[in-house]
Amino acid sequence: MPTKPRRCPVCRGEASATTLDSISGEEGALALTIRKMPVLQCAQGHKMFVHSDFPLLLLDHLLEQDEPQLPASEAKGLVFKHFHCSACGAELAGDASDKRTFHVAVELLEQPTFDVDLTVPVHRCPKCGHEQMHTLKETRNRTPAALAHAFKSAQIAHD
Ligand SMILES: [Zn+2]
Ligand SMILES: [Zn+2]
Repeated sequence: MPTKPRRCPVCRGEASATTLDSISGEEGALALTIRKMPVLQCAQGHKMFVHSDFPLLLLDHLLEQDEPQLPASEAKGLVFKHFHCSACGAELAGDASDKRTFHVAVELLEQPTFDVDLTVPVHRCPKCGHEQMHTLKETRNRTPAALAHAFKSAQIAHD
């Protein structure tokens, strides 16, 4: 993956490719952790995205490709929402009290594949045992902020 030499926006030093072990952000009931995310880093340790489009592309990938693949309960009812098992249709209990971590693998901009863990409330169907995310909509709504918190915690500079 040839990346042309980039200058650090903070100190103007030359930046080279590396990966971040683990960065995390939380928003409401969603906790998001990114492992081995490719970044550029200068000799002084300032970090930056491999490409200015990277954060937006990652968000788009999660919202449009990864999260819709995860098992999620179906919300029914216009005013009073009730949730149904996506496998057997049984009605699920009101609260999703357990949490579970779903892993997705992301590849962007010809960079090495990295992992994203999404920890969300889940329901276990009382009838068939199928485990599923409380609501996909809620997870998707919280993803932009959780991702922003993760980037902020890692102090990734924008150029
Ligand atoms: Zn720097
Ligand atoms: Zn079920």
